[in-house]
Amino acid sequence: MKQSVLFTKILREAPKDEQSINSQLLIRGGFIYKNSAGIYSFLPLGLRVIQKIGLIIREEMNAIGGQEMFMTALHDKRYLQATGRWGVDVIFKVAEEKKEPTFNLSWTHEEIVAEIAAKYISSYKDLPFSIYQIQTKFRNEPRAKSGLLRGREFLMKDLYSFHASEADLFKYYNLAAESYKKIFKRCGLDSVYTLAAGGDFTLNNTHEFQVLCDAGEDTIYVCEKCGYYENKEITKLQDGAKCPKCGGPVKEKKSIEVGNIFPLGTKYSEAFNLKFSDEKGKKKYVVMGSYGIGLGRVMATIVEKFYDEKGIIWPKEVAPFQVHLIRIGDDPKTIKVAEKIYEDGQKRGMEVLYDDRDKSAGEKFAEADLIGIPTRIVVSERTLEKDSVEIKERNKKEAKLVKIKEIHVR
Ligand code: ATP
Ligand code: MG
Repeated sequence: MKQSVLFTKILREAPKDEQSINSQLLIRGGFIYKNSAGIYSFLPLGLRVIQKIGLIIREEMNAIGGQEMFMTALHDKRYLQATGRWGVDVIFKVAEEKKEPTFNLSWTHEEIVAEIAAKYISSYKDLPFSIYQIQTKFRNEPRAKSGLLRGREFLMKDLYSFHASEADLFKYYNLAAESYKKIFKRCGLDSVYTLAAGGDFTLNNTHEFQVLCDAGEDTIYVCEKCGYYENKEITKLQDGAKCPKCGGPVKEKKSIEVGNIFPLGTKYSEAFNLKFSDEKGKKKYVVMGSYGIGLGRVMATIVEKFYDEKGIIWPKEVAPFQVHLIRIGDDPKTIKVAEKIYEDGQKRGMEVLYDDRDKSAGEKFAEADLIGIPTRIVVSERTLEKDSVEIKERNKKEAKLVKIKEIHVR
């Protein structure tokens, strides 16, 4: 893409009420636009990142048998009334003018999906299976001050699994946990598997995937000896206390919850009469699990982990483009060479953002550092004197001159 046609521009300043690193950098770089507190639009650069994260998630969900579908955002109140969740405080309710609310905006889909599954499932032969979606959730978060970490409207991948027994559920639960680890790793994030509470979803304990980070709103206890993690919400542990697994000392850390998996049991199948007949023809309730990841929260976490005083440093797999090609000056030979590199890149399916604008080198470099594309290639009269371009990785200090005929960028 040519940067001259990109409709967004780099902003010198972020809005004053935006405190978090992720929102400041993402807004200034033209990745997102803040419409209201906790409500953000994804601009072309930001959408590319979200789509990359979505692609990684889709690949890994498909790999554990997830079938993708897409459910509604507007839910009749009978769904939440069936499970006693109509009163949950973060739910946005929708009413006709001067009437009591009769709908809510999607905040999670256990009820919706249990009713749909009940229509198709009748035998143990139909089980197990799992479905997922990437869809917008709405939650009236009281503390929407952390940019994409905590939106009031946000994209979530939610997967739901359906089983004939608890044992089968936990087999899949562990598989999903492995898959989650891979997803975060591919996004450049080291996550830790943490025992947590069930919230409004289940009475059981659940597991969260936490990324250690000072910008996080969660507090977890970490045993550095055996790698056991527990969320402060459920624990009686304190800093320096003994690990319940190995007796080693535990430490308190700030962290970001990027994913959460829930063994639901039969709560939702009971509410929606989701049953199957077993091998002996006996009717039983289907055992369910649910598994969430916030795409925007993952994107924000990546920014909170990978930035410096100049801007964002995207890991390759989620970067909006792989290469930032920067042309300095407008002498005809420089233009010709830069265009050629750009077009060759396009032909080879390389993702290049080509800065073809008339701006000073200083401005272009500062903007490129803010946007944070992994590889920068500079073409100028000076580099062409040596038949070369200058290549620099965003996460390295030194640049190197490379002969034009030798550049093959992945
Ligand atoms: P939190 O405790 O941070 O409020 P939660 O435990 O209520 O989150 P879940 O219902 O477990 O959230 O949602 C599954 C996943 O969706 C979370 O692990 C997180 O990645 C993401 N998520 C939840 N709430 C938000 C939000 N307000 N903004 C962005 N992502 C969110
Ligand atoms: Mg959670």
